[in-house]
Amino acid sequence: MGTSWCRGWEGEKIRQYRQEDEFVRAMILERPGEPLRAADVAVPEPEEGQVQLRVHACAVCRTDLHIVDGELPASRLPLILGHQIVGTVEKLGGNVGGFGVGDRVGVPWLGWTDGTCRYCRSGRENLCDNARFTGYQIDGGYAEYTVADARFCFRIPEAYHDLQATPLLCAGLIGYRSLRFAGDAERLGLYGFGASAHLIIQVAVHQGRRVFAFTSPNDAETQEAARELGAEWAGSSEETPPEELDAAIIFAPVGPLVPTALGTLAKGGTVVCAGIHMSDIPTFSYDDLLWEERSVRSVANLTRQDGQEFLDLAPYVPVRTSVTPFPLEQANEALDALRSGRLQGSAALVVG
Ligand SMILES: [Zn+2]
Ligand SMILES: [Zn+2]
Repeated sequence: MGTSWCRGWEGEKIRQYRQEDEFVRAMILERPGEPLRAADVAVPEPEEGQVQLRVHACAVCRTDLHIVDGELPASRLPLILGHQIVGTVEKLGGNVGGFGVGDRVGVPWLGWTDGTCRYCRSGRENLCDNARFTGYQIDGGYAEYTVADARFCFRIPEAYHDLQATPLLCAGLIGYRSLRFAGDAERLGLYGFGASAHLIIQVAVHQGRRVFAFTSPNDAETQEAARELGAEWAGSSEETPPEELDAAIIFAPVGPLVPTALGTLAKGGTVVCAGIHMSDIPTFSYDDLLWEERSVRSVANLTRQDGQEFLDLAPYVPVRTSVTPFPLEQANEALDALRSGRLQGSAALVVG
């Protein structure tokens, strides 16, 4: 059976495998800064309120890259990454409502909340003091099987195949929340035209907004992709757009883009930072860049309501996803492709 590991749901303890355990393939993070390692892990059993899923596909997110690279501290190791999971329910734990065996479901980043803290009680479960996140505090979808709290899973719209649905679950959901915080901005800038911007531009255009897309300098291919998806203008982040913007969403983890984006805003405009991690923001002039009611805000995680709204809306836009598939065993190659910036759209692991 070879060397392996398995552990309880709480993850504190790595125990020896037992002869009777069944094993499945997974890609595990043992130490930040090192590639993921292929391993056989025990099939996770669903506990109270959980579903056991056979994973079909799991998209790769920039957050995964931040965890692998040590920019976000891993709170448990070894860890199975992946929080854009599409799978089929194979088994139910006790007291599972809403899903049955055979249902196709999606698992997002928000994996569990306490439901009792001041944030949960005020409709802001995305800020829950004790939140646990899929593929971070909870093992995720870079594996053949996973378990998830059924209350935080979504039904996948039928119009989407498994692979095509995966990026909706984070790139789409978090992007949608970011777009909400852009308010009713008519002229919208998108900085960093990766997985999220590919999806959110389609919603923004559907809503009648005018989109201005900013890419790395000299990335003509991505600028062309942005124009094809409806951007009125696409250029380098070093360029000045042809007119002032009412809001800008920054998807790239690059702090210096904050003052750059502020510099493009009309009075009263907002810069929304959509990522979980960003390099430091340089000092900037209050008088030149923030005065006149400009604002900067971040977006953290998602609520289930964001998720449901976006998944209801996506088939009507319709939001089309562009996904490059990688076999599960090539998770490191998928992460490298994302790191290099050479992907158009998303990368996803195809499992089984
Ligand atoms: Zn809470
Ligand atoms: Zn994500």
